[in-house]
Amino acid sequence: MIYGRVALIGLGLIASSMFWAIKRGGLAGEVTGYARSAETRAIAREIGLCDRVCDSAEEACEEADLVVLCVPVGVMGAVAAQIAPVLKPGATVSDVGSVKREVIRAVAPHLPPNVHFVPAHPLAGTEHSGPRSGFAELFDNRFCLIVPQEGTDRAAVEQLAAFWQGMGAQTEEMDADHHDLVLAVTSHARHLIAYTMVGVADDLRRVTDSEVIKFSAAGFRDFTRIAASDPTMWRDVFLNNKDATLEILGRFTEELFALQRAIRTGDGQHLHDYFTRTRAIRRGIIEAGQDTDAPDFGRVKKG
Ligand code: NAP
Repeated sequence: MIYGRVALIGLGLIASSMFWAIKRGGLAGEVTGYARSAETRAIAREIGLCDRVCDSAEEACEEADLVVLCVPVGVMGAVAAQIAPVLKPGATVSDVGSVKREVIRAVAPHLPPNVHFVPAHPLAGTEHSGPRSGFAELFDNRFCLIVPQEGTDRAAVEQLAAFWQGMGAQTEEMDADHHDLVLAVTSHARHLIAYTMVGVADDLRRVTDSEVIKFSAAGFRDFTRIAASDPTMWRDVFLNNKDATLEILGRFTEELFALQRAIRTGDGQHLHDYFTRTRAIRRGIIEAGQDTDAPDFGRVKKG
């Protein structure tokens, strides 16, 4: 057991996966939970998500040794302000937001000095959301990036790292700005590209809907899967990671123009060199154990 009582605020994909992973690993004495709607709280009670589902965020946080904010990035600050008065002295407050600089800016000012604020971000997800979408294996062998603030108590940081490791993740520490840039490349821009591709296919009336569905091999289906991700979450990610995303999209556009030009001018060498370089990156990811060559990338399909 790593924490006596853990409070999960927000009961969607990430919080529900955390709960099942906490139970699997025996990492907490009691897990309390809260979500904003009565409907989500009722579902949580029905499926046994959390040892105790509370009707207010404050009640869920009382006496908690660890509070994890699992709500969309845009409401983290408001939730922190709401729970601040009831936080137990010496408790750790963390979050799972996909953006770090803006979350820290929104949350930190509300927290009393006698709690430890240790932001984090598990690099794991699916396109599903809500309390029923979680599963214990979500974080297995995935990274959880921990973003400690200057002067944060080391013991609190290490305890949180041990907690994520107990849920199956590998942990690494990173600075907030660097985190936001890395994620803009690896995740945020990818979502924008998928949204655009699916939007283009939809606009292209010469290709019928049934053809898109019938002939979409794994590649395009993967775009549609990504583009089905939660609209609130992704709106908040782009609004809160504006600079890094715009920086990456600028570079992306330049590369796209270069490829467009190579196609127009018949520069096969450019295309071949480019694709050779990108193939080597894929090999590096497999060698680093972050993916596999197995069909469907070896992932277990859920729900
Ligand atoms: P989700 O499945 O959509 O769940 C969000 C939860 O937050 C819901 O239970 C919702 O309650 C609750 N909520 C929303 N506003 C609230 C408020 N003002 N007060 C209290 N609860 C509120 O989302 P998720 O995918 O778990 O994402 C949660 C966080 O994890 C986000 O910050 C996201 O950036 C981050 N994250 C997501 C992924 C991913 O791939 N999904 C990966 C890593 C990190 P109701 O159900 O009552 O509306």
